Amino acid sequence: HRPNCWEHRVVLLGDPGVGKTSLANAFAGIQERDLLEQHGEAAYERTLLVDGEETTLLVLDTWEPERRGEESWRRSQCLQVGNAYVIVYSITDRSSFESASELRIHLRRARQAEDIPIILVGNKSDLVRCREVSIEEGRACAVVFDCKFIETSAALQHNVDELFEGVVRQLRLRREGK
Ligand code: GDP
Repeated sequence: HRPNCWEHRVVLLGDPGVGKTSLANAFAGIQERDLLEQHGEAAYERTLLVDGEETTLLVLDTWEPERRGEESWRRSQCLQVGNAYVIVYSITDRSSFESASELRIHLRRARQAEDIPIILVGNKSDLVRCREVSIEEGRACAVVFDCKFIETSAALQHNVDELFEGVVRQLRLRREGK
């Protein structure tokens, strides 16, 4: 058995404040207390053992908000470099959920005809009293997007491993399909 050693670039997309950096930190196993030292770091690598096979993911947290309606070079790079995409919204922020739909459209335009794994993520599932987007709405949106869906809590580390294991499985399905 030879573990595959090539990296998969996973790009996080989503509005500011939805929890992209927190998810990346939870993925990499970085605790809150380490965050200061890690400041400015935007790429996180970890090897996951999924279904008996190792895969190394490189998670990129480089998405930035649009400025004055201008599409930046960095944003278009983000849409080009990913082998898989995680589109994050906060279940406590309906406008971030609406932005997720726009991001899906951007991605489709940027990568026409490519079958790229996309996971829609409703983060901050621990904030039950502030919920603005139901789990059913999230699921329905993923059906329209033709992508996977999961709710996570980066704060409680809930479903974070499941999310990235799901990314690995989606990447493998496409590899095997070729
Ligand atoms: P980013 O701008 O998308 O990278 O978002 P951050 O990761 O910086 O998170 C924005 C804020 O939301 C921070 O104060 C985080 O501590 C908080 N946050 C992120 N994920 C969660 C979560 O799952 N639950 C709760 N309660 N807060 C979260």
